[in-house]
Amino acid sequence: MQYHAFVIKYAEIGIKGKNRYLFEEALVKQMERVLEKCEGKFSIFRVSGRIYLNAAGFDFDETVAALQTVFGITGICPAVCIERDGDNKLPDINGLSQEVIKFIDGVYPDKNKTFKIKCRRVDKTYPLDSMEAAAEIGAQVLDAYPEMKVDVRNPDILISVEIREKVNIFSEIIPGPGGMPIGTSGKAMLLLSGGIDSPVAGYMIAKRGVEIEAVYFNAPPYTSERAKQKVVDLAKVIAKYTGKVRLHVINFTDIQMYIYKECPHDELTIIMRRYMMRIADMIAAQNKCIGLITGESIGQVASQTMESLMATNEVVQDMPVYRPVIAFDKQDIVDISLKIGAYETSILPYEDCCTIFVAKHPVTKPRLEVIRAHEKRLVEKIDELVQTALDTDEIIELEV
Ligand code: ATP
Ligand code: MG
Repeated sequence: MQYHAFVIKYAEIGIKGKNRYLFEEALVKQMERVLEKCEGKFSIFRVSGRIYLNAAGFDFDETVAALQTVFGITGICPAVCIERDGDNKLPDINGLSQEVIKFIDGVYPDKNKTFKIKCRRVDKTYPLDSMEAAAEIGAQVLDAYPEMKVDVRNPDILISVEIREKVNIFSEIIPGPGGMPIGTSGKAMLLLSGGIDSPVAGYMIAKRGVEIEAVYFNAPPYTSERAKQKVVDLAKVIAKYTGKVRLHVINFTDIQMYIYKECPHDELTIIMRRYMMRIADMIAAQNKCIGLITGESIGQVASQTMESLMATNEVVQDMPVYRPVIAFDKQDIVDISLKIGAYETSILPYEDCCTIFVAKHPVTKPRLEVIRAHEKRLVEKIDELVQTALDTDEIIELEV
């Protein structure tokens, strides 16, 4: 069966009035963005609470895969859409039944199946109501294909017939990613490292419609060009779902060396992480972001005890820190990482600037007043070093 149309389903609950309009606008824009990269001619129509995609000369699998990266879409239904005739009339019930019979033949060559017709009459001028139309179409299908049987509880094939501005016939609903379209919330700054957790955290927040900008702290020559490339590749994975991602690469070497020189080594990780948060907060504010995102998860490593989280959280002045994987087990994070296509890249070996100078026994329960006191030892040069790091911010724009 060669389809030429898709009915795009999205969660309609809770988006009424103006919000609904904005939601649909953003969804269409995101669909256009991904379809631009697919072969074929596409046109998107928004008609009274439905989004339709007409397609010609396209590759089915490529198109569906692209649509599956658009947040907001809950279902992609390959459909046969029957337009109104010149008199603005839809086919009568016999005509409609014939279309459904043709549809079944096209999609299901093997008729030894149970089925159910689910009708939804939105156009109330149509002479039969939903129940009557379903019963009539079902009867005509049985006439045409005596080997088929009706099963209203658990049918092999559920055929939806929507009587609206046009008639839509579909049976398959390919799941979309769900969530909210990008552009319906604000923008947040993701602290993106080369690990498994932060790309997943970025994906999860983006899925709520949030635009993503990212920051990576590297420490050349202690961290390699390859480690940086890995982060670039992970930012690209996120860009596949969000569109363009701006990645800030911050040279953290001098700050790290200075902390190493002045502060107790067992507090190095925690103090470094505090400076990362401070700098991320500043870059975020300068770039109109209204939230930070990290891949922190309680208890996963020594630097993520609740005490450590309190210490890294304390220094953020301007905005909330979103930690979507905070209560996830590692395996749950890995599952999402696999699903979104980040895992292969995340598990490549690399040097992390957090592990280069790491102490054998880092503090796991930092006391804030102690950390604050030790940070005072940095007073002479730290502002200047932070300023230099900000001034030498390398911005890489990534798009897939
Ligand atoms: P990930 O798998 O995301 O690297 P992790 O379990 O290794 O996380 P940590 O190294 O303790 O955890 O880092 C916690 C969070 O801090 C990361 O999820 C990330 O958001 C941020 N982070 C750590 N290192 C960097 C870095 N070099 N650049 C940017 N952000 C970082
Ligand atoms: Mg890490």
